[in-house]
Amino acid sequence: RLVEEAEAALVEARSAHSPVRHHLVGPEARDIRRVADELRTAIAEDQLLLAYQPKIHVRRQEISSAEALVRWHHPERGLVLPGDFIGAAEDGEVIDLLTLWTIRRAIDDQRTLLAAGHDLRIFINISGQLLADQAFVDATCRLVAEADAKLGFEVTETSVIRDPESAIANLQRFADIGIIVAIDDYGAGLSSLAYLKQLPARELKIDKLFVTQLTSSNRDPLIVRSTIDLAHALEMEVVAEGVETHAALALLTVMGCDMVQGFLISRPVALPALMAFLEEDQHH
Ligand code: C2E
Ligand code: CA
Ligand code: CA
Ligand code: CA
Repeated sequence: RLVEEAEAALVEARSAHSPVRHHLVGPEARDIRRVADELRTAIAEDQLLLAYQPKIHVRRQEISSAEALVRWHHPERGLVLPGDFIGAAEDGEVIDLLTLWTIRRAIDDQRTLLAAGHDLRIFINISGQLLADQAFVDATCRLVAEADAKLGFEVTETSVIRDPESAIANLQRFADIGIIVAIDDYGAGLSSLAYLKQLPARELKIDKLFVTQLTSSNRDPLIVRSTIDLAHALEMEVVAEGVETHAALALLTVMGCDMVQGFLISRPVALPALMAFLEEDQHH
């Protein structure tokens, strides 16, 4: 059902725009096609699942939101992590379908959470190329507005650099319908303060590259502290991802980091485990 709806929404939205065709060439093209075809089947046959990783608001001591991370329960290969298929999904042009599936599933799960008394914003990772895909943006805006969902989109700065004008305009459309835009992996890609200034983003996520060794490195604390100050000056809230130790959490708290996410608090978990985590949190 989700797939049919997603396909229909895309076909409808596409008819309003001229389609962009990518020609797959070179030795890897066949692999990309195979994975892309397998992914279509995976979406149709419900082999994908979402794992949720909570973000904790440090000062408020509460779970502020959760990030949805896709996993693939492959019939032969077992559990496959996104690092092994998102790239092929992007190159094989199924990332739009996969992401619409993700958004729909997140909206469904959000309803389940709300019915159990948990009002949680869910963040979804959005690949850069989708910010230039007008059909995807149209379909997504319609979907989110109709469902009245409380979502956030995580995008990297690098995704804006490709086509800044349409990316910024589309992020603004998302922001206008109440989607919170977060800059993901900050510091790990090609940073441009010029774009950072223009993006309608309310959250900045410091890449785990600077967080996992925060207390054993000389430079990382300096980078993290100045990033927090920069983000605050731009009126953004800061999330540190990859928080694995109490020592890192303590240091981030002193530095004024607003939110934390990482294995110390919770690994990404399936919906029932997220619910259990939320229930437990209520009793503390
Ligand atoms: P990301 O958005 O930077 O997500 C954070 C990754 O770090 C996740 O890996 C998460 O499991 C892992 N992580 C979380 N806490 C810790 C920690 O304390 N320490 C360490 N070392 N790692 C931690 P995962 O789930 O394998 O996802 C990898 C990447 O795949 C994500 O990176 C994201 O860029 C991409 N991805 C995941 N789901 C989607 C999706 O639905 N759409 C798109 N386009 N990309 C996705
Ligand atoms: Ca496609
Ligand atoms: Ca992310
Ligand atoms: Ca990240």
